[in-house]
Amino acid sequence: MDTAVASEPTRTGAHSSKHFDVLVIGAGISGIDAAYHLKTYLPQRSFCVLESKDGFGGTWKTHTYPGIRSDSDLYTFGYSWKPWLGAPIATAPEILRYLTESIQEQGLGDYIRYRHKVHAASWSSAEQRWQLLVDNLETGEQLTFTTGFLWMCQGYYDHDNPYTPEWPGMDRYQGRIVHPQLWPQDLDYSDMEVLVIGSGATAATIVPAMAGKCKHITMLQRSPTYFFPRPNIDELAEMLRPLDIPDAWTHEIVRQKILKDQEELVRRSAEEPEGVKEELLAAAREFLGEDFDIDRHFTPRYRPWQQRVAVIPDGDLFTGLREGLASVVTDEIDTFTEKGILLKSGEELEADLIITATGFKLLVLGGIAFDVDGKTVDFADTVTWHGIMFTGVPNLAWVFGYFRASWTLRADLIADILVRMFRHMDSIGASVVTPQLRPEDKDMHLRPWIEADNFNPGYLQRSMHLMPHQGDREPWLFTQDYWYEKEAFPAAAVDDDSLHYS
Ligand SMILES: Cc1cc2nc3c(=O)[nH]c(=O)nc-3n(C[C@H](O)[C@H](O)[C@H](O)COP(=O)(O)OP(=O)(O)OC[C@H]3O[C@@H](n4cnc5c(N)ncnc54)[C@H](O)[C@@H]3O)c2cc1C
Repeated sequence: MDTAVASEPTRTGAHSSKHFDVLVIGAGISGIDAAYHLKTYLPQRSFCVLESKDGFGGTWKTHTYPGIRSDSDLYTFGYSWKPWLGAPIATAPEILRYLTESIQEQGLGDYIRYRHKVHAASWSSAEQRWQLLVDNLETGEQLTFTTGFLWMCQGYYDHDNPYTPEWPGMDRYQGRIVHPQLWPQDLDYSDMEVLVIGSGATAATIVPAMAGKCKHITMLQRSPTYFFPRPNIDELAEMLRPLDIPDAWTHEIVRQKILKDQEELVRRSAEEPEGVKEELLAAAREFLGEDFDIDRHFTPRYRPWQQRVAVIPDGDLFTGLREGLASVVTDEIDTFTEKGILLKSGEELEADLIITATGFKLLVLGGIAFDVDGKTVDFADTVTWHGIMFTGVPNLAWVFGYFRASWTLRADLIADILVRMFRHMDSIGASVVTPQLRPEDKDMHLRPWIEADNFNPGYLQRSMHLMPHQGDREPWLFTQDYWYEKEAFPAAAVDDDSLHYS
């Protein structure tokens, strides 16, 4: 991985100012997208990106476990404005290289300040600005920044503290326990019997990456997950690539084709879930053979797309299982033992290394303490305007992407709507915008941020009580539906009375 480039573009000395028209928090894929939109479409506004790590990339910098890769294709996970030239599913180093090029080509490096961790933000109505308390992790100084507008690109989970459930007996286990989010770079597992707890995208990446490189690896899951095995190649891209046409055209055509196919799959998952389920199971059977117990290990209880369906490139997870380099066990943990894990069925799995691929801790808005004129903001008490801004909270937008489609598609749509909003503010001479419920919305039925029957992975359900609410009508919906929002967002009014300007 070309980490040298990760810190190279920053020339923090180029900035002495601590006030910016816009502050972007986070230099992951969304923060870089925000910086691109600000520089390209709002060049008269000063801005800066504050990032707590020592480089950009967010998720793709934090996670360094074996095989770390995307589970959606990079034609749609990449930006609309920067062609993707590789295989659809990409490794973290490939994604970081793409982001490096994006930053360099767009001249965004000078706008990012690394090792700046924001821990508090206070809005003053009198001054019409946010004041931020920021730790400079390099020098230990506490800095104050001010800004007219906060564009929050902090992602959705705690980058420092992953989620590990407490199981009985963990303290007596004599082997090593590692969470993928905190992967030790010097871990030599070549002689180890390895047990991975979990069956999400992370487990499905680690198991094939380590199979054959350790003694044996076992994936222990409480319940099965859907996987979508497919070749890591896009036939349309392969066809277009040799033609004498710009990369940007190929990118856009392939992107649109993938989106069309995904729309069809999501629609079918809702309308004929049994049909889609059968197709996914048939694909698994093709790799695993008729004798494999697919019913027990790969037939989930939920319908497809109620949780993200992870693509497994070239079916590598299944190949490892078929070749006997890896195994899968579907059971529940009773207790950890000295040597491994005792299951509820009575079986004991022995292991030298246990990897807890048990997910994330959701973190609302980067763990920053917000207040408006001295009053603490509890985002659970707010209703979101298009899932972007919050009632009663001035000049603050957050980027929360899609789970079923690529996250970045929403980052792009949000950027477009914010650019329109800024231009509208310029045209009416406003400096403050605050979402507010209209008289007709006052008794509106409030719903959870994401409803369990829509999308229900554990990390969301555990923390839903911390999240803002959505309403039952526009502009208060948060549908997690790209195909709806790609039409709704460009048409969304930024000048009606759901937004109060001053
Ligand atoms: C292993 C893994 C694989 C994934 N694969 C996919 C995929 O294939 N497709 C997909 O669509 N999604 C995927 N996701 C979801 C993924 O997190 C997002 O798609 C995307 O990378 C999020 O980008 P982001 O920039 O919004 O947030 P993040 O990548 O989370 O970056 C947020 C940045 O903000 C910084 N930050 C946070 N709080 C503060 C603060 N208080 N002060 C300063 N800086 C702060 C963080 O340090 C971080 O660098 C995956 C997630 C994980 C964990």
